[in-house]
Amino acid sequence: MIIHDVLIVGAGLAGMRAAVAVPSHLNVGIISKVHPVRSHSVAAEGGINAAIRADDSWENHMYDTVKGSDWLGDQDAIEVLCKSAPEDIMTLEKMGALFSRTADGQIAQRNFGGLGYPRTCYVADRTGHALVHLLYEQLIKSAAKVYEEWYVCSLIVEEGICCGVIALNLFTGELETLRAKSVILATGGYGRVYLISTNGLINTGDGMAMAYEAGVPLQDLEFVQFHPTTLKSTGILITEGARGEGGYLFNSRGERFMEKYAPNAMELASRDVVSRAEYEEIMAGRGVDGCVMLDLRHLGKRKIMEKLPQIWELSLTYAGVDPIEAPIPITPGVHYSMGGIPTNTQCETPMPGLFAAGECASASVHGANRLGGNALMETIVYGRRAGEYAAQYAEKNEIKGISDQHLNAQADRIKKLMGKKDGERIGVIREAIGTLMAEHFGISRTKERMEQGQAKLAALRARIPDIGLRDKGKIFNLELIEALQLQSIMDLAEVLAAGATVREESRGAHARPDFPKRDDENWMKHTLAYKTEEGPRLEYKPVTITTIPPAERKY
Ligand SMILES: Cc1cc2nc3c(=O)[nH]c(=O)nc-3n(C[C@H](O)[C@H](O)[C@H](O)COP(=O)(O)OP(=O)(O)OC[C@H]3O[C@@H](n4cnc5c(N)ncnc54)[C@H](O)[C@@H]3O)c2cc1C
Repeated sequence: MIIHDVLIVGAGLAGMRAAVAVPSHLNVGIISKVHPVRSHSVAAEGGINAAIRADDSWENHMYDTVKGSDWLGDQDAIEVLCKSAPEDIMTLEKMGALFSRTADGQIAQRNFGGLGYPRTCYVADRTGHALVHLLYEQLIKSAAKVYEEWYVCSLIVEEGICCGVIALNLFTGELETLRAKSVILATGGYGRVYLISTNGLINTGDGMAMAYEAGVPLQDLEFVQFHPTTLKSTGILITEGARGEGGYLFNSRGERFMEKYAPNAMELASRDVVSRAEYEEIMAGRGVDGCVMLDLRHLGKRKIMEKLPQIWELSLTYAGVDPIEAPIPITPGVHYSMGGIPTNTQCETPMPGLFAAGECASASVHGANRLGGNALMETIVYGRRAGEYAAQYAEKNEIKGISDQHLNAQADRIKKLMGKKDGERIGVIREAIGTLMAEHFGISRTKERMEQGQAKLAALRARIPDIGLRDKGKIFNLELIEALQLQSIMDLAEVLAAGATVREESRGAHARPDFPKRDDENWMKHTLAYKTEEGPRLEYKPVTITTIPPAERKY
């Protein structure tokens, strides 16, 4: 049996930052279903927000974030993020982060959507790549034990306290029990509940599903961010940095249509606003083949190749368009999970011994809509804090005794899946869920469509027990992993659907033509979903407002 003081599930930026923050006298383990540098964080493009200039301030960063969240973000958590960000950026810099520079050698910052100041630090358009490799170096330098290509199946909970996990070692196909004094979930988002997404295929929200299964509620899953600029069919992201560097959006008539929707911020309004504007233009017949056009030509070859080299390459390879010569056809696409496991500012979840940080958590710094550049900062600030507070908890608590039932339950679950051969195909069900989520829980949601979507989900849920696996092997059985991930996706899709259908207002990313206004009186509250036999049971929790009272949101 494996024992650690602090055990971290997930080795993206949040998990690795947490591992590095645990004091070296404690024994840390970190598990990832893929090699750490293949975590989705590596794909982050545009940058990371911090108020590091004398004429900027954390208070301004906080105001922009609260407004961006459409007043659903918890202001105590946002304050911690914005206040800590400058120092955390300097720590990354000291670790060796290669941020892009201004001519006089300062860390360069670019414009991003919804920001009142160019506050986004970046490494060209490969910020995630640079930071993931930086933290991987730090992780290897530390004494942490890395379990890469191990899939965590469930949490171990004894008497309401989290005291470890059950994981499948992909190399051997054996289930293992890992015990710990404290556990941190840093398992990333649920973007792949939808078929097409900017997210890696591995972003199936397993950590959230595990917590939900163990009795922890999930918060605000109905808030899913649609990014304004993704490539049609593939969903590949074209960073907001492209508009931050001065890119324009045009409709089929050659109009810069954002003039109508956000006359001040134009293309750099918050993401929910720009995505909805694009959707309306396309629905009104002013799109081009289901897209609108992102024009970078006026930036010139030199700037494009220096600031947006990856965008140039992605656009050329996947859309066949050279952005130096022609506008890029883009469409809004699923990008980010605002909801997740509820935590306080010390990354504690409602379950003792269990902490969460990064995209799988809902602190909530993003509320109903996240600002670009704030997710990376959240992984760093809250990843560090999760490491620190989980370490403090581990210092005060003992390793608990656990029964064999936890391992046996997972062994049974796997045996059942392996038992059938000619049942339903996993891919067929996954594709059906992903397609219906886009159709019924997309940018614009009506009661009728959502109820139809819920009925389709129920029908798919009934087919899941009939899944059959063709691969009966033990070693690297990725079909088995697909089956386990499908169970995560199913649970999360149901929670998302339940929360969305009853929320009768439009706020941030949740837009309802049948309830077009934000309704602070009835709905300025977080959704909490608990797992029951009959499906999700919903409760609500107040939003924490400290210094910034709700106001109308205009860009
Ligand atoms: C294409 C793209 C570009 C982005 N660009 C930006 C940007 O420029 N700025 C910004 O602020 N944000 C950006 N974001 C968002 C940001 O990158 C993510 O929110 C953030 O990196 C998430 O980090 P994380 O550590 O929480 O999770 P991830 O990096 O997703 O890591 C999750 C980890 O959990 C592990 N895991 C999951 N389930 C299991 C399991 N069952 N067993 C074992 N391990 C498991 C995975 O292996 C992985 O190691 C972008 C996102 C995408 C998709």
